[in-house]
Amino acid sequence: MKAPREAYVKALQEKVSAVCIDQAGEGVCRPGGGFTCRLQAFLDQIVEAIEGVESERIEDYVEAVRDKICSICEYREPDGSCPLRDTADCDLDRYLALVIEAVEEVAASGSALDM
Ligand code: SF4
Repeated sequence: MKAPREAYVKALQEKVSAVCIDQAGEGVCRPGGGFTCRLQAFLDQIVEAIEGVESERIEDYVEAVRDKICSICEYREPDGSCPLRDTADCDLDRYLALVIEAVEEVAASGSALDM
């Protein structure tokens, strides 16, 4: 992590949770079908995966997420498929572009502070 953990939490709340269809207001989540929020469950791994990629291609980030998060996620099937992803019920997959933006903005500001 290139910045304090709280900075990532705040950025994700502002950029992703604020527009998430599963948010019930005032920072409370109500993921459909009783699924738990992947952003909360895997924050550290998400930051690590995104910061490990330097690419203009979203596919490279998708690959990193599948490799570092889906591989340890309880919703993943043994064959690598995911019923939540198939129904757009995974918040991480659904908002990946926004998640990348939030993490990279925080990382950039954290790196700037180091200079
Ligand atoms: S796509 Fe599926 S396996 Fe991957 S993080 Fe989301 S819920 Fe978990």
